[in-house]
Amino acid sequence: MTVLHDPDGTDFSLVCDGCGTTIDRLGANLHNWELAWSLVRRHGWIGERSRQGPHGCPKCTTRSAYAVDG
Ligand SMILES: [Zn+2]
Repeated sequence: MTVLHDPDGTDFSLVCDGCGTTIDRLGANLHNWELAWSLVRRHGWIGERSRQGPHGCPKCTTRSAYAVDG
């Protein structure tokens, strides 16, 4: 899931729904959810494309808790 820090959604953090691992200030650095998600996916995160998730960090996905993604 994501946590918004600004009402307009320009700053947000990504939180693993499995273990709570958080990537802070993702929006502040990348400005855009689509771009942020495509980047973290390359680092092993999987889950729904939507901001609401669920999203799984690499630690959780290696335990195959989130085995679904397209
Ligand atoms: Zn996790």
